Amino acid sequence: MKLKSHQCFIVNIKTSLILTKSPFKRKVYNSKILDFQGLEVNIQHKKIKKLYLKINNKNGDVTLCVPLNISENFIVNFVTEKLQWIKDNQQKIHHKKKSLNIEFVESDNIKFLGEIYQIKLNKTLKKPQVNLIKNHNLINKTYQENSQLNLFDNHESQQNSHCNQIILDSIKDLTKIQKTKLLEKFYRQNLQEILQELTKKWQKILQIEANFVGIKKMRTRYGSCNARKKNIWISLNLIHYPIGCIEYVLLHEFLHFFEQNHGKKFYALMNKFMPNWQYHQKNLRQQFAI
Ligand SMILES: [Zn+2]
Repeated sequence: MKLKSHQCFIVNIKTSLILTKSPFKRKVYNSKILDFQGLEVNIQHKKIKKLYLKINNKNGDVTLCVPLNISENFIVNFVTEKLQWIKDNQQKIHHKKKSLNIEFVESDNIKFLGEIYQIKLNKTLKKPQVNLIKNHNLINKTYQENSQLNLFDNHESQQNSHCNQIILDSIKDLTKIQKTKLLEKFYRQNLQEILQELTKKWQKILQIEANFVGIKKMRTRYGSCNARKKNIWISLNLIHYPIGCIEYVLLHEFLHFFEQNHGKKFYALMNKFMPNWQYHQKNLRQQFAI
């Protein structure tokens, strides 16, 4: 499942031409900045036949590549039509960027399995450790006691989320990198156990076995798979999302063992096995990591 690194809109003007080189890398013949209600769009004229609109995933800059002979009127109308889409996506990038730059200051918030936790720093343990406190209870195995794996989706826990804490405990001062590593290890262990449970569940339902389900740090994908080798990789980032989202991504990758493409057959399977998958997909798009 791919999260596009650049949000693109492609519009056909003439019948399609297969471009061998990314339109964004092609020679610019003419360029100018147009202002749309305070939103600047870099217009680049190139020897191409379609319009390509791109929002830079890092800084939110907007570039529109257009054919050489296109009128300014057409460009203005096109961008105006897409303005809301551009703004929505810029906002998402902004949120994401903000959330990825977290400093480990006491009282900062992070998301864990879709719920907000406050970071606390303790100085008691010789061996650095991460503990999770949920509604005043120290939980080491956060989800294993809960066979349905949806503890974190219920409303009661949402209401009490102000009590939730993730405690980084180390008698020695930890650098930011050490804290990040400690948290990542904690995320990995938790995600690993969740995936083990979910893999067991879905292998039984689908009557198929994965050779391997692993966790990887992926920036642009939630998951990926090699259908031939029956390997699945899940993004470590998913630990920040509700378990329903993790399950949705895992099932999505499992279904690629039957259907490699995202065609009608694939979505028919998705509908069959997880009728509410769109709810999780929406959740995945709306929630931002950490
Ligand atoms: Zn897919």
